[in-house]
Amino acid sequence: MAAEQTTAVVLRTIEFSETSLVVTLLTRDFGQVAALAKGARRPKSSFEGSLDLLAVCRVVLIRKSSDALDLLTEAKLQRRFRGAEKSLDRVYAGYYIAEMLRLLTDNHDPHPGLYDLTLSALGQIDGTGNPALALLGFDTAALRLLGHAPATRSCVDCGGPVSGTPRVAFAPIAGGVVCRDCRARQHSLVTVSRGTIEHLERLLAPHTRLPIEVPSEVYREMRGLISRYIQTILGSIPKMQPYLPARMEPVE
Ligand SMILES: [Zn+2]
Repeated sequence: MAAEQTTAVVLRTIEFSETSLVVTLLTRDFGQVAALAKGARRPKSSFEGSLDLLAVCRVVLIRKSSDALDLLTEAKLQRRFRGAEKSLDRVYAGYYIAEMLRLLTDNHDPHPGLYDLTLSALGQIDGTGNPALALLGFDTAALRLLGHAPATRSCVDCGGPVSGTPRVAFAPIAGGVVCRDCRARQHSLVTVSRGTIEHLERLLAPHTRLPIEVPSEVYREMRGLISRYIQTILGSIPKMQPYLPARMEPVE
């Protein structure tokens, strides 16, 4: 089988034998990939310590049939994740990104836009960006890129206008805002301020890039809303979600 080149972010490594690793990668061209890196645990391997969590590498892969692991034959480090040199908040933010990508993407289902977003978010997190805003911007853009953008303008149930009061009802299971008439039919509802929904609509726009900006009172409410919505999509609470910054202002 032919070897293929792409760039990748390391999402997880698991020791496989005395000498090898199983590596989960988000590749730019093939989506999520689980690959065996033979000899990667040897002191002088050809991978030269490039397979650390969240490292960005140029990789060569040999694709196997659907149920077998791919083979990682080369990985050249392009960029190491340096969150640990800065703060624990930034480390946790990196772990959160890795977990979300593992949970939200499928094997061999490429999303180059999501890959580029990931590099941009990691640059904010291990650079001087605000980690809380980097994660909120990452989540909202990732939801849009993966086809999970919630409805922010028309009622997700009847399509009618969602007008009136300063508070707006959002139905995570239905996937967006609901009008007054449709509220009673929803299994669960979160109410948020209209301002939060307006800022969310802006963040979901295709031209939005990191770093994002939102007022700090909007951050708190939107963070809660997006976390709840992600739980609904995944059917579980991501392990790193409780570590998300509750406040926008960094504690460093
Ligand atoms: Zn409705």
